Amino acid sequence: MSHEVTPQLWTGDYYNEGSGKDGLFDKLKDECGVFGVYGHSDSASLSYYGLHALQHRGEESAGICVSDRSEFHYHRGMGLVKEVFDKDMMASLVGDIAIGHVRYSTSGDSKLTNAQPLVFKYRDGDLAVATNGNIVNAPQIRRELEQSGSIFQTTSDTEVIAHLIARSSKDLVEAAKDAFNRIVGGYAFLIMTNDKLLVASDPHGLRPLCMGMLGDAYVFASESCAFETIGAKLIRDIEPGELLILDEQGLREDRFEEKKHRKSLCAMEYVYFARPDSDMNGSNQHAARKRMGSRMALESFVDADIVTGVPDSSISAAIGYAEQTGIPYELGLIKNKYSGRTFIQPSQELREQGVKMKLSAVRRVVEGQRVVMIDDSIVRGTTSRRIVNLLREAGATEVHVRITSPPFKNPCFYGIDTPDRRELIASQMSIEEMCKEIHADSLAFLSPEGLITAIAGNNAEDKKGGLCLACFDNDYPTRTDFGGEEKFGCSC
Ligand code: SF4
Repeated sequence: MSHEVTPQLWTGDYYNEGSGKDGLFDKLKDECGVFGVYGHSDSASLSYYGLHALQHRGEESAGICVSDRSEFHYHRGMGLVKEVFDKDMMASLVGDIAIGHVRYSTSGDSKLTNAQPLVFKYRDGDLAVATNGNIVNAPQIRRELEQSGSIFQTTSDTEVIAHLIARSSKDLVEAAKDAFNRIVGGYAFLIMTNDKLLVASDPHGLRPLCMGMLGDAYVFASESCAFETIGAKLIRDIEPGELLILDEQGLREDRFEEKKHRKSLCAMEYVYFARPDSDMNGSNQHAARKRMGSRMALESFVDADIVTGVPDSSISAAIGYAEQTGIPYELGLIKNKYSGRTFIQPSQELREQGVKMKLSAVRRVVEGQRVVMIDDSIVRGTTSRRIVNLLREAGATEVHVRITSPPFKNPCFYGIDTPDRRELIASQMSIEEMCKEIHADSLAFLSPEGLITAIAGNNAEDKKGGLCLACFDNDYPTRTDFGGEEKFGCSC
């Protein structure tokens, strides 16, 4: 198989950092972030700042829907949170219940109609839905609903849950429970009506969702870093299969799935997606990544002059590797955070330098040095090869790549945009072949046991540490086969 792609670096005004086949950086993409508020008069502003803290989970669209308990006020738009909302817009979002969303999407469905929260009219008033994750059997349910008369407004599978609720003759809570029991996948849902907020996590707790408090108000977010930003206190994670109901009676803790499954939180949240200042399952992300780096050093030590991490996600792990080995940590690679958009079309020569617009090797640091380069994952291999080449061009004499997760061999069905299995380099090549392909002097991956221990410690309640590791071990927590209609990736 060939991993050589022709990067389309500029698309209109956009510099294409790339996540897809044509992109320069074939990194995995998280799909969405959600944020909710119940019982705070300034729910819109809290949502704005909460979503801003979750921006790394989705940069393509943002939206906030607020209820003043008689009607909804909402706005959604394409772009970053700070681009979508202005002062006047925020002033119009009045109410004490709110849900918000940031979305990343694959290019085919990157349009405003799919931006969330999705808002509907139903028999009991207004309904808004925001989700992070993927419904594996959504295509099948959607087809059945369409055959029985439902008309879908969007191509987002999130709409499936709204239709299931709207068509039910039961009250909202029972209708939502029935709907969650129909769908299969990994998801965190926020559902708002004029006077209620429902919060749900899938039966395996695949996608992160946590609860906090700000005074008497309840807040919910994909990651706890959003609570820090607004001054709220983290209370706890939402449990697998749990359904929280917030209304005039206060908070009720219920379940839609009686059977308790083994928790299977996405391991890649720890490896790569979540912000280092977020806590999940009682573990801080930065600390967990440092332990991954330290464990990596124990498993695959290589003598070198400096350790560097691919920014931003691998810096914590590189510090851990350096501390364990005594090899100094250095900033050998720098990420330009402002490379997303340009209004000046560059010359062809500069376009070909595109990788350097996003990432630079620090020549004074790496020149003449044997470098250990820590990264979180290898998807197609193109990114790793480009970064290794950057280091070599800047004068590194050796580049040893250490990946703080096991080989990524299987697609994700639970909300992470992954390519087809055939495009995943680890499913097609041995480690030796991959090493050659990315031009490294040596390559090693963290073992599954090493990853579990780094995240959950030695006293993990179950042998997988409460984690989903399916992209590494092909052991999916849910059914994934729906007669060829199943959907992997994301359905936000
Ligand atoms: S398959 Fe991989 S990326 Fe998807 S939820 Fe499981 S651990 Fe996360």
